[in-house]
Amino acid sequence: MSDDFTSLGLAPRLIEKLAEQGITKPTPIQLQAIPEAMKGRDVMGLAQTGTGKTAAFGLPLLHKLLSEGGKPSPKTVRALILAPTRELAKQIQDNLKNYSDGGHIKVGMVVGGISINPQIKRLERGLDLLVATPGRLIDLLDRKAVRLDETKFLVLDEADQMLDMGFIHALRQIAPLLPRSRQTMLFSATMPKQMAELSKSYLTDPVRIQVAPPGKPADKVTQEVHFIATNSKTDLLIELLEKHRDERALVFGRTKHGSERLKKHLESKGFAAASIHGNKSQGQRDRAIQAFKDGEVKILVATDVAARGIDIPGVKHVYNFDLPNVAENYIHRIGRTARADADGAAIAFCSPQEMDEFRAIEKMLKIAIPTASGSPWQKHEEEAKPKQGGRGGRGGGGGGGGQRRSQGGGGRPGGGGGGGARGGKPANSAGKPGGQRRRKPARG
Ligand code: AMP
Repeated sequence: MSDDFTSLGLAPRLIEKLAEQGITKPTPIQLQAIPEAMKGRDVMGLAQTGTGKTAAFGLPLLHKLLSEGGKPSPKTVRALILAPTRELAKQIQDNLKNYSDGGHIKVGMVVGGISINPQIKRLERGLDLLVATPGRLIDLLDRKAVRLDETKFLVLDEADQMLDMGFIHALRQIAPLLPRSRQTMLFSATMPKQMAELSKSYLTDPVRIQVAPPGKPADKVTQEVHFIATNSKTDLLIELLEKHRDERALVFGRTKHGSERLKKHLESKGFAAASIHGNKSQGQRDRAIQAFKDGEVKILVATDVAARGIDIPGVKHVYNFDLPNVAENYIHRIGRTARADADGAAIAFCSPQEMDEFRAIEKMLKIAIPTASGSPWQKHEEEAKPKQGGRGGRGGGGGGGGQRRSQGGGGRPGGGGGGGARGGKPANSAGKPGGQRRRKPARG
């Protein structure tokens, strides 16, 4: 089988548009999904961002809209794409506009956090293709600014994150408003249990497509973990960032406030940093991402919700300043590095209170993440501090607790907790020296 876009049956004008953008060879998800989608099948795709999945669903959609011709009726959309975040929605819209440029396809986007009136106005004459976040779409449906009874194509992108973000209710409301006879594609990086319910209500006899098994990070990402006390994390981060001042780094925090504090602290130390999280307006988030893409800021501090699905090229280092509480998010986070052919490094900071999360990540990856400093916290250390408040509160930008174990001094026990030596053993069973470098349970 030939593996170019022509063999997939796409309209020549789409293929030309792709070629203009240097896209000539379909990615594996595109090779699998496009022929099925062209046949009209429902598709359930298990694929991460960065695999080319936007084009995998977008190209067949555009092909069909172009070849069917016709115009949308007022206040209707011919194709609807639902995405969890504003950033992802914007990215999808931008991609689809690029692919369809000049093809008279009317593409629009409705997301929360910005004024609704221009969106209502834009929907008045109908759209060929609408990219929406579920919450804002519901709002517009309630206001009768749009109807979905003529929507023949539907895509649910990053469906697992939509569930994580509590959009299940919105999705349940939307399903019955769509015509029964339609084509639906659902893409997700993971397949949590709840997905079964969602896919049943949305998909009819779908073909399942999977490109990389879930839980398998990009092969070129090197991973390591520092076992470090919460209030020493900021110092370590600064030390590591100093070493690569000219390279872009993405830093993940868990809370909005912690992330904002951390960003401010980094700025106070002379780093050009920006942040994206739920407390930022759409405009602020767009500007931060653009500044990061342009290289104006080198460090982007982000929470999972704000960062998921965003295509940021060329990130060398991803810091898990706080470990994610959902293990799968670790994969999404580190998927931001080593895209295409680049190498990347994912560096995790694990405090005593994060050992459960750390173990869950190793279990999911089925590997032991090599240790860069410290060694896995032991039970009594984990329990020494209450879980809640421990990390979010002190984590972000506190700076210099002075408790940090020096990386050189003391050294690690010969291979005791080192990645290679640990093999598949659970993290907390690795031996550790007499605890001389460790915070004592009673302290702090
Ligand atoms: P996505 O997984 O959809 O977020 O796509 C990730 C990036 O890959 C985007 O910047 C796309 O423009 C790009 N891309 C998509 N398909 C291809 C392809 N067949 N060849 C090269 N780049 C692609």
